[in-house]
Amino acid sequence: MKSADKWFIGLFVILVFLAGFAALYCAKKLMSLFGKSKGKCKCGLLENFSKEADIPIRWDERMNEYYIADGKGGRIMVYYCPFCGGGTPDSRRGSFFAHITSREETRIYDLFKGIRTVADVVTRFGPPDEEREFASGVRWPGRRGKPDRGAAFRGLVYKRLSPVADIVFEVGLGDTVRLTWSQKPVGKDPSGQQDIMNTQPKNGIMVFRARVLPVFVAMASVTLTGFFSLIISKEGLQGVDGGALLIGVVVGGLGSFLYAWLLTLCFTLKLTPEGVFGHSCWGIRRFVGWQEIVAVKPFRFLNLRYLRLFQNGRACPVWMPLYQAHKSEFEQELKRLAPPNSPIRSYL
Ligand SMILES: [Zn+2]
Repeated sequence: MKSADKWFIGLFVILVFLAGFAALYCAKKLMSLFGKSKGKCKCGLLENFSKEADIPIRWDERMNEYYIADGKGGRIMVYYCPFCGGGTPDSRRGSFFAHITSREETRIYDLFKGIRTVADVVTRFGPPDEEREFASGVRWPGRRGKPDRGAAFRGLVYKRLSPVADIVFEVGLGDTVRLTWSQKPVGKDPSGQQDIMNTQPKNGIMVFRARVLPVFVAMASVTLTGFFSLIISKEGLQGVDGGALLIGVVVGGLGSFLYAWLLTLCFTLKLTPEGVFGHSCWGIRRFVGWQEIVAVKPFRFLNLRYLRLFQNGRACPVWMPLYQAHKSEFEQELKRLAPPNSPIRSYL
């Protein structure tokens, strides 16, 4: 066997090994991708039970939800079928409430600045729209032999302080207050004439995949340069077998392409209203909240451009590839979700 052939076989084996490794790494992810549509309950047990008067399982048509009625007006949500283990239908609950942007949330918290007691609230906002004797309740389960405990709060409800949220000042010891908010239901605003719209897109969280071609070009340029310099250093320019070289390049190219494709499939980027799900430099999935991003530094490797999102107290940043398959949607979503003071905005 010629020495060059050994190199090609070696390269081929390495690429197959890498591709196999990547495929194994992705298998779980891929299965969860394909499994999504299969995971629903098809046995119909919940549907049948919900029609039986003496079984406390009920169906909420508006919300598209199954629940267990506790007999006192309370609901215990059912997420899985107890017989086949399949999931219950996707709830419509999210689309029945107005979306609260992070900017609006910040504005609401700013309303609370300097407020300590009920008197402060009434002085600043006038009398409440509603006074609730029981605005909220909590129950803390007892640990290590201690009994369960509970607490209830009276509340002052203000409906006009935000177009999308109801603000409830809960009253505690010594008339001190804490601010809570809840999304308004979508529909007519009960106090005014305006419509409350749900501005959240149907898929609240968008997953972005990087483009395959730039990864392939970068990978192929590095591996081919290494491959040629190895061959030439071993065999000299005269000793190279042209046919074998061609086979090596084609096989290596195909392997690189497969590997690049698997990489983009594995290392997806998720943008949520809370922050970014990206990857650390070790390829481990990591989340960084918008407010936690203290510095942003660009990085370029050959034709691949990244933003590195730094957090306080962590040396290893979260990597955000900018060569996205759906670039305009990606930029639009980033503009929509990144808070106005975020350092990431200077790179958009
Ligand atoms: Zn079922």
